[in-house]
Amino acid sequence: MNQAQAVVIVAAELRLFLRPGRRGGPVAVAADGTSSLGHVVESLGVPLTEAGRLLVNGELAAPGYRPRNSDVVRVEAVRRPQRLTSARFVLDVHLGTLARRLRLAGVDTAYANDAGDDALIEQANAERRVLLTQDRVLLRRRALWLGAYVRGARPDDQLRDVLDRFKPPLAPWTRCPACNGPLSPVAKAAVAPMLPPGTRRTYQTFSRCRTCGQVYWHGAHAKRLEQIIDSAVRAASPRGNR
Ligand SMILES: [Zn+2]
Repeated sequence: MNQAQAVVIVAAELRLFLRPGRRGGPVAVAADGTSSLGHVVESLGVPLTEAGRLLVNGELAAPGYRPRNSDVVRVEAVRRPQRLTSARFVLDVHLGTLARRLRLAGVDTAYANDAGDDALIEQANAERRVLLTQDRVLLRRRALWLGAYVRGARPDDQLRDVLDRFKPPLAPWTRCPACNGPLSPVAKAAVAPMLPPGTRRTYQTFSRCRTCGQVYWHGAHAKRLEQIIDSAVRAASPRGNR
């Protein structure tokens, strides 16, 4: 039993990525002198996009460091908020509801329900969008410039997670939930012929997507969405803005 070993202590926020039997505390890994720290972290199941600082025996270490016998490695979670030069995202095919909600909040969000993994990575890289996904394999792709794992099974929780992590500037009701295009106010007279009679009688304020032409108004439907956005914004800034 003389095999070289290092001990890895994974931050509590990252333990969901570990195998259930390893979530209780430090994990022993073979320190064979060939595997890099980055590889060790990934092989435990933690995507590097989710890891923050890596410490070896209390000192900051690069992902290329090769753990040695009896090293104690600490893997911290990525710091929140994770600042971006521009808050732009592309979502994988399973996050359609989250995509619509981010757009409602005014966040630049690319999404297509038929985008393959290669296309997602290409778009993320070309347009400098953060790829949001719950697919850890996708996050491990070397070609990807920046990605993030979205936490939560419910869209409300996912929205809260993304807003909390990146703190993107919000501009509710400025973006088309259907296509991500910008919305502009439009005179009622210009859209009246397209409206159902009940809507025509009840609402006065309308906007139209400059990209796809879809017309929006603040109806009963909008109230529920407004609540979702409001509660997400509140949850993302627990101390409030005022
Ligand atoms: Zn549109």
